[in-house]
Amino acid sequence: MEDHNHQTLPSDLTLRVKALESLLVEKGLVDPAALDALVDTYEHKIGPRNGGRVVARAWVDPAYKKRLLQDATAAIAELGYTGAQGEHMVVVENESSVHNLVVCTLCSCYPWPVLGLPPVWYKSAPYRSRAVIDPRGVLAEFGLELPQDVEIRVWDSTAEIRYLVLPERPAGSEKMTEQELAALVTRDAMIGVARL
Ligand code: FE
Repeated sequence: MEDHNHQTLPSDLTLRVKALESLLVEKGLVDPAALDALVDTYEHKIGPRNGGRVVARAWVDPAYKKRLLQDATAAIAELGYTGAQGEHMVVVENESSVHNLVVCTLCSCYPWPVLGLPPVWYKSAPYRSRAVIDPRGVLAEFGLELPQDVEIRVWDSTAEIRYLVLPERPAGSEKMTEQELAALVTRDAMIGVARL
């Protein structure tokens, strides 16, 4: 049985954050543009950068990769990424013949410690329903046309399990440092709507 009970928490939290934001803006204590910039930073930079470090470590360290695929929560915690919405992580590995795509069909379950805040489209009803019914069509809309012989596996995140895609290491990256590799990894590749 899937558990999305946490859904009541974010909505309550969202309301409280909104109320706080309105108050701060009204009192002239914060600039709405600065808040937007802050959210943008968490969505695009800080969060996914953590996931990128996990992926890069798995690419350069086979023993780490093995631990990551066996017990992602513990392996991710080794790098210091723990906390809310990351307690039960599962990492799924892309291969040339297998592509993994992550969705939360019921709400917006997402691995915050490694990806930050979910993008708006991830929470949208069309993505949540269509990722399951027509994953190939959804991926094409993201600009990812996969050959017919590539199997697409769709993973439904819940409060119980949060998925992260381990993308394939790009060709030609053999001489890159772990840090350089981490910078290659995009949020969308770790959700599975893009390849590297
Ligand atoms: Fe959910």
